[in-house]
This record gives sequence, structure tokens and C-alpha cells, in this order.
Amino acid sequence: MIKHAVYPNLFSPLDLGFTSIKNRVLMGSMHTGLEEAENGFPRLAAYFAERARGGVGMIITGGIAPNIEGGFGAKLSTPEEAEDHRLVTDAVHEVDPEIKICMQILHAGPLAGTPACVAPSAIPSRIARLVPIELDEEGVQKQINDHVQCAKMAHLAGYDGVEVIGSAGYLLSTFLVEKTNQRDDQWGGSYENRMRFPLEIMRRCRAEVGENFILIFRIAAMDMLQGGMSWDEVVLLAQEMEKAGVTIISTHFTWHESTVPTIATMVPRAAFAGVTGRLRKELNIPTITSNRINMPDVAEQVLVDGHADIVSMARPMLADADLVNKAFEGREDEINTCIACNQACLDHTFAGKSVSCLVNPRAAHETILNYEPTANAKKIAVIGAGPAGMSYATVAAERGHNVTLFDTASEIGGQFNLAKQVPGKEEFVETLRYYKRMLEIHNVDVRLNSTVSAEQLKQSDFDHVVIATGITPRTPDIEGIDHPSVVSYIDVIHGNCEVGKRVAVMGAGGIGFDVSELIMHSGVSGAVDRDVFAKEWGIDFENHPRGGVTGVKPEIVKADREVYLLQRKSSPVGRGLGKTTGWTHRISLAQRGVKMLNGLEYHKIDDQGLHISTDGMPSVLEVDTVIVCAGQLPKRGLFDEITAMGLDASLIGGAFEASELDAKAAINQASYLAAAI
Ligand code: FAD
Ligand code: NAP
Ligand code: SF4
Repeated sequence: MIKHAVYPNLFSPLDLGFTSIKNRVLMGSMHTGLEEAENGFPRLAAYFAERARGGVGMIITGGIAPNIEGGFGAKLSTPEEAEDHRLVTDAVHEVDPEIKICMQILHAGPLAGTPACVAPSAIPSRIARLVPIELDEEGVQKQINDHVQCAKMAHLAGYDGVEVIGSAGYLLSTFLVEKTNQRDDQWGGSYENRMRFPLEIMRRCRAEVGENFILIFRIAAMDMLQGGMSWDEVVLLAQEMEKAGVTIISTHFTWHESTVPTIATMVPRAAFAGVTGRLRKELNIPTITSNRINMPDVAEQVLVDGHADIVSMARPMLADADLVNKAFEGREDEINTCIACNQACLDHTFAGKSVSCLVNPRAAHETILNYEPTANAKKIAVIGAGPAGMSYATVAAERGHNVTLFDTASEIGGQFNLAKQVPGKEEFVETLRYYKRMLEIHNVDVRLNSTVSAEQLKQSDFDHVVIATGITPRTPDIEGIDHPSVVSYIDVIHGNCEVGKRVAVMGAGGIGFDVSELIMHSGVSGAVDRDVFAKEWGIDFENHPRGGVTGVKPEIVKADREVYLLQRKSSPVGRGLGKTTGWTHRISLAQRGVKMLNGLEYHKIDDQGLHISTDGMPSVLEVDTVIVCAGQLPKRGLFDEITAMGLDASLIGGAFEASELDAKAAINQASYLAAAI
């Protein structure tokens, strides 16, 4: 067999004895919301088939519950339900019978969100509202039987295997950890007893489904809990799983209630792979590693380092269904890289919305949003090369329109050129690289440093003009707003102004948080240095105390500044940030000593500082710099001018709607409009 020149490990098959996997790339499990949506299975089939065509070796579906008490989503326990899944397995195997698709069995235990939820002990999770029902012996046996039945139905549905999740704070993991398992029967007490439930499930699944069915157990190799699993316990469980007939051990690195980020964009690439590597040395069966592995070179390096046998890339497969093919064909610069923002995937899952992807709105919408070749090619001008303009231009040009993209700036990207400078947002550079390449490939005529007037547009022969000129930062109407101590976030991020030692950040939206992070940082960003990341978040990768974090104090290197992050609303500061990442930003700033104040009124700014009042009580923040991050207004003057002249135009992105706008909304809106013109 000829080895791939650049990724010899990634593109080598893995022999499992009774079958093999054609390469080492796994699409990890992600709940899409389609599992329970009306008519969701045909959409799921299209979604997975597209990833199969993209060259992935193995797919794990989103979690499916074995019974009602275990689920916040779909369940599989009957042959009728298995029929739906046939659509998915057939779609993938029709693309390539060699591709393996396994279904994840997910019993959410105390996180199931139903009053019927169950657990080894009646101990609620820190992040759940409901107290779970403590299982009695009959209840334990029912849960085991239901898992086995679910695996049998997955077999019937044509899956090549199942992955059973034994991590994250879901049912199986709550048996393993003392704080959630306080039983004194055969299912609790000693570690041997606490392991019994997950082991019994896997043993009985193996007995029922036979030898030629892939069984994956997902283990919390580092559960990130104070008092969580010790390293010896992790190793023993994995070894016992091997004896129980498990084919592959997949490593996971968190419980949902942990306060350490493990997949957000501030986590360095492949930060946790070394933990899998240590476990791999203790086993004779293959291992899967995951978390923040978003490009093929990173995946190849993980394999070269001997950290795993298979690399899971979950969100990167939302961002680019063709990632594997592009790597194989040496088209890495065309990969639409996952920036780990969680904004359209996990944030949607936790809001009960169907999943998509910020950089690829087609993800999980393959039957709805398609970029078909146009039969009526138009000459289109796009004004503004921010995320909205870049995505409109790319999609329209891909469909065969003749597109010219203008920007007054000297580089494409708009506000992403600010975002990429925030520590923890380094990945945004990849999106800029992707669009630059797409604009080249689709022959968009990019005119930088170009100001186009309404008159010029009128004189030109464009069939359609798209205004994507973004925003203008809001200047609050406060006495002294023109005081020399007042600066804009744009100048701060670009380094065009001095920032003093005592700073007030006016406005605590996403940008206020980012600016506070930037000015409180010192030294290397944790997002690009694993040691810095580990110190900042109190993780001990070397000694692996319980959970990886027990007793480890975070060590923060911060700038010598005093920062106040301010908002007028009385709601908690940062409430509007992303559901699955907002807490990481709040903790990060709190650890850096940023004082977050809410419910206040601004009065004036003068030589003394910023005059405010809280509950009618006046005070002065004696700061030497006030950074205005008070939201944004649409910049749409050009649109008003050209439509008044009768030109055919549309308005997108921040220029269309600045409040509540983010890159997700901008790219989504632009892509749908460009698909329709
Ligand atoms: P813009 O990005 O503002 O682009 C507009 C473009 O138009 C600019 O390039 C500008 O030069 C050009 N232009 C303006 N006028 C003219 C003219 N007359 N002629 C030609 N060109 C013109 N969003 C997220 O979703 N997630 C994040 O994590 C995130 N982080 C951010 C961090 C920071 C620090 C900042 C500032 C923003 C962040 N955003 C984030 C917001 C996101 O970047 C914006 O929502 C998005 O850029 C809006 O896209 P847009 O194309 O509408 O506008
Ligand atoms: P924003 O989220 O709308 O926040 C603006 C802040 O300014 C608010 O906290 C608001 O709170 C305050 N404000 C509004 N009017 C004001 C006034 N007249 N005077 C003083 N304060 C005022 O906007 P943003 O921070 O500029 O961000 C722009 C967009 O980029 C947002 O949609 C955001 O989602 C996106 N973004 C996202 C991320 C991310 O991580 N997902 C990061 C950065 C930016 P009060 O009125 O209560 O004071
Ligand atoms: Fe990655 Fe963000 Fe897309 Fe989710 S929404 S897949 S985190 S780029």
C-alpha cells in the first residue's frame, strides 16, 4: 500500500480484526437537533452522507437515549424507531460501504431534564434543576437492559457499532465518582463496585450483539472535577472495558459541570491528546483522542506522537464536510476551519435550536441551503469585505455570478481583523485565510483600498449592488465623551492609543469582554501554549491528580492594571454571552481581577475620571482611560443613496442590522441571499 506523502498516518487504515477503518479520521458525536425534529431523519441522512463523501473514515452519530428517562433527545428502543435510522446508515453505506457509522448511546442520567431522570444517588448536578430519582436494584437492571436493547436496535438499523458514553456527568459516569454515587450496595462504595454498572452494560452489549460489531466506550480520561477520577481509576476502568469486549476506547475530557474550558477557542489545539497517549500505553485496543483538533497537520502530529490510533474531529466536520478530501488532495488552504466559537453548534444545542455552523451555514441544513449553479449570471458589486461581504461574494461567485468586491481597507476581513488580535481568538485567522482562498478560487475581483461612490455605482453596469459596509461604533451621549481619556475599542485593539493603569470599559457586550481580556493579558496567550493554558486553568497534565485539577491553584500572569467592566442593565454582567462559552470569559476576567459592575448610570467624564451612580448613589471611578464599547450602529448611508437613485441593491450584515449582530448572523444572512440571487 502506498503511503500518503504528507499524512502517512492519517491515511493509513486501522485493522480492528473483524473489520477495518479506512483512515484515522473520525467524525465525533454531535447532537444536531434533527434527531427529534419532524422529518429530521432525511435531513440527518443528507448531513451524514455529505461527510461520508468528504472522506471521513468513521462517523459517530449524536447521542440517542436508550429510554425515556435517559433522554433530552431521541430514543431508540423499538424496531419501528430503528427504521428511521436505516435512512442514515443506508445513506452513508451507499456513499462507501467501507465507511463505518456507529450510533452513540447517551443516557443523560441526572442531566436528562425530565422529572423521571435517574441516577445512582439522589444528588443533583450543579447545572441541573431537577433532583434525580435514586435507582433501586430493579431500576439498575432496567437501565442495563435498556442499554442492551438500544445496542441491539442499532445493530438492526444497520449501524457498524455503538459508542456508549461513560463521561460528561451522564448516567454511567455518575456511578464512577464518589460524589454522585453514595450507594452502599453492589453498585456503590468501593471503586470495583462503582465500575460495575458501566462494565455490566458493555459486557452484556457484547454478549447480545456478537463479535463483529464495534463497541466503543467513551471514558472521562480527565473529568476536570475536584475530587473526580484518579489516574489509576481511569486506567483500571479502561483495562476492564478491554476485558469486557470493548473494541475501542474513546477519551473525553470533561463533565459538563466542570469549570475548566475543554473545547472553547481559548483551549490550545490538541491540548488533551497527551492524556489519551498515556492511556493508550496501558491498553491493547485502539484509542480515540479528541478536543480542539481542527486541522489535518495537528491530527497527523497526534498520531506521529503516538497519542492515539484515531483522531476525532467533530465540530471541524460541521465547518467543512470535505476536510478529509481536501487534506488528501493537498488543498489544506481551502479548509474552512472550525474556530471553536460554539456559537451555532453547541450554543444552539443548549438553546434547543437546530445546529449549524458559524463559518458554514449549510451544516445540518444540506437539504435546505444549496449553492446551485446559476442559469442567469449577473454582474454584482459587493461593497464591504467583512464576514457578510466575503461570504456573499464567495457564494455568488461559486454559483457563476461575476462578482467585484470593494473595501476601503487594505485587507479583507472587516471586524475579524480586530477579533483575531484578542488573546484566545487566534483561530479567526483561519477564517480570513479561507475566505482569501475562496475569493481567489472563484475569481472574485477584489478591490482593496477602494472607495466607491453612489455616483460611480450608478455609472457602472452592475446588475445588483450588495451593501455590506458593516457598522459604526456607537458614541454615547455623555458629558465629556470627547475628553482626551476617552478612546474607542478599535484604537485600543489596533494599538493606536495609550491605555492607562486604571481603566473603565464602558459596555459589557462581547466586545467589552474581549477588550478587557486584551488589556489584562500579559505574555503568551494560553490558546497557543499548553503550559500557559494549564497554569491559567489549574490543570496538572503531568501528575494527574483526581480529575486532573484537584488541589491545583490557577496561576495567572496578568497586566498591571485595574479594570472596571461596566454596564447599565441590572442583569448579571456577561449574561448575553454565548451559553457554552460565556462562563469561560467571566471566569477568565474575574481571575484577572476585572471588577464587573452593573445597574449603573453614567454622568460625565472629566479629569477626575468617570462619574457614575448606582442605585442613586453617586461615585467617581478615578480612571485614566475610558474605553467605549457601547455597541454599534449600521453603516448604511451608501445604501440609502443608491436606492434613492433607483439601483437594485440589498443590504446585509451589520449594515442591515447592527444590534444583536454577530458573525454567525452576518454569514448566515449573506449565504442565504447569495444562494437565492
Ligand atoms: P464588518 O466586519 O464591519 O465589515 C464591513 C467592511 O466594510 C469592513 O471591511 C469595512 O472596511 C468595509 N467598508 C465600510 N464602509 C465601506 C465603504 N464605503 N466602501 C467599501 N468598504 C467599506 N462575532 C462573532 O460572531 N463572534 C465573535 O467571537 C466575535 N468577536 C468579535 C471581536 C471583536 C473584537 C469585534 C470587533 C467583533 C467581533 N465579532 C464577533 C463581531 C463580528 O466581527 C461582526 O459581527 C462581523 O464582522 C460583522 O460583519 P459585517 O461584514 O457585517 O461587517
Ligand atoms: P453589544 O453586545 O450590543 O454590547 C454593547 C454594550 O454597550 C451593551 O453591554 C450595552 O449595555 C452598552 N450600551 C449600549 N448603548 C449604550 C449607550 N448609549 N451608552 C453606554 N452603553 C451602552 O455589542 P458589542 O459588544 O459592540 O458587540 C457587537 C457584536 O459583536 C455583538 O452582537 C456581539 O454578539 C458580537 N461579538 C460577539 C462575541 C462573542 O464572543 N460571541 C465577541 C465580541 C463581539 P448597557 O446598555 O446595559 O450598558
Ligand atoms: Fe466550529 Fe463555531 Fe462552527 Fe461550531 S459554530 S463548528 S465551534 S466554527
